[in-house]
Amino acid sequence: MKVMKFGGTSVGKPERMHQVAQLITKDNEPTIVVLSALSGTTNALVEISNSLSQGDRVAAKQKIDKLEAHYRGFVTDLLKKEATLAKGNAIVSEHFEFLNIILRISFSEALNKDILAQGELMSTKLFSMYLEEQGVDHLLLPALEFMSIDANEEPQLGSIKIRLSQLLQQNSDKKLFITQGYICRNGKGEVDNLKRGGSDYTASLIAAAIHAKVCEIWTDIDGMHNNDPRIVDKTVAIKQLSFDEAAELAYFGAKILHPTCIWPAQQENVPVKLLNTMEPEAAGTTITKEAGSVGVKAVAAKDGIIAIKIKSSRMLLAYGFLRKVFEVFEKYHTSIDMITTSEVAVSVTIDSDMFLLQIVRELEPFGTVDVEDKQTIVSIVGNEIAKTEDVLQKLFSAVKEVPVTMVSYGGSPHNISLLVPNEYKTKTLQLLNKGLFGL
Ligand code: ADP
Ligand code: ASP
Ligand code: MG
Repeated sequence: MKVMKFGGTSVGKPERMHQVAQLITKDNEPTIVVLSALSGTTNALVEISNSLSQGDRVAAKQKIDKLEAHYRGFVTDLLKKEATLAKGNAIVSEHFEFLNIILRISFSEALNKDILAQGELMSTKLFSMYLEEQGVDHLLLPALEFMSIDANEEPQLGSIKIRLSQLLQQNSDKKLFITQGYICRNGKGEVDNLKRGGSDYTASLIAAAIHAKVCEIWTDIDGMHNNDPRIVDKTVAIKQLSFDEAAELAYFGAKILHPTCIWPAQQENVPVKLLNTMEPEAAGTTITKEAGSVGVKAVAAKDGIIAIKIKSSRMLLAYGFLRKVFEVFEKYHTSIDMITTSEVAVSVTIDSDMFLLQIVRELEPFGTVDVEDKQTIVSIVGNEIAKTEDVLQKLFSAVKEVPVTMVSYGGSPHNISLLVPNEYKTKTLQLLNKGLFGL
């Protein structure tokens, strides 16, 4: 079996959906197709939710109506037969009636998650209707019946495996399954999600659960590029990456992949392929156990980073000091990305300010605490890069005009990370493109 995931732009227009239908029926391999919401929908749902949480029902209603008009136009272009068009319109009505009912209910976090789930529910149902119109035999698998996260928001791979294999066994006469990316149930059984960009995560979890032959992530670009194509002009696709390299790139900001979507596939050794829906013949990127080659492969940037420096000549060398510092972050469920130490100070970075005040308050008894926000981690990722000749020299001569505030080197054989003030991000990525890749 294989898994094919199509992102928002790949299903964002009726003609793209028509193309997706061709891609998934090309060979006879049993396939689970994972779909995102149409591009722009989740952003629109977030805005509707925001208006509701602020008590602005008029604004929420306007946004709901605008989105509904978009979907009415979409189904008219997607579906051509009278019967399926009527069913398509009924699907749109059902989901927008739900959003209009929500307008009258008092806002809660659980309701927010219900709102956010509407995008994937609609895209899969409408796509299924198009397949029906085309006479393509298939089954819609409701993700809410098998995809789940626990109380710590971690996917429960064991139970996902059990529930999914039961569903597949019950429908063993089918070869083509369509399901929703992103959405799941949480520990309380409520509708929840795998965070923004989470459809990649769904695909990888399904691929691991069924030991798929391959997990294909179809998007709007021909694979993982050596640098962020939204920021740097000349970037090139990378043919092969190891799971570790891809995981580092995803975690450190390469938007093409959800930050934690590699581990399930890696755990079951399922190859991941990044492919372009708009250019299906392009080779794309293959992600497997093997790195393919040694050296720097790509750079990526992660914004919204906060650096915290704890200075204490008295405490730092005392054993147990670092443990006490880490315990503060653990207590507030805040993970540390980068860390450096000197004799008198320890600096760490975090990517969430949710508990910043509490963390700083609890660190203050240990020494002087400095906080620097609006930072960006720029990661240089590759295979055994630390062993690659000249890499440090090339790296530091490339960024000599950038005020680098922290460096992390040696922690992983796949990564060197620099911390730079956010306003230097674009410049740093451009300079590295020239200095490391000659582009
Ligand atoms: P989808 O909707 O298919 O999930 P995303 O927008 O989430 O697609 O991811 C694809 C986008 O990721 C590309 O259009 C590209 O702009 C962006 N991107 C950022 N960094 C990279 C990179 N290193 N390689 C490829 N794409 C990247
Ligand atoms: N629709 C969701 C989002 O926009 C999930 C995804 O596209 O992967 O974040
Ligand atoms: Mg995405």
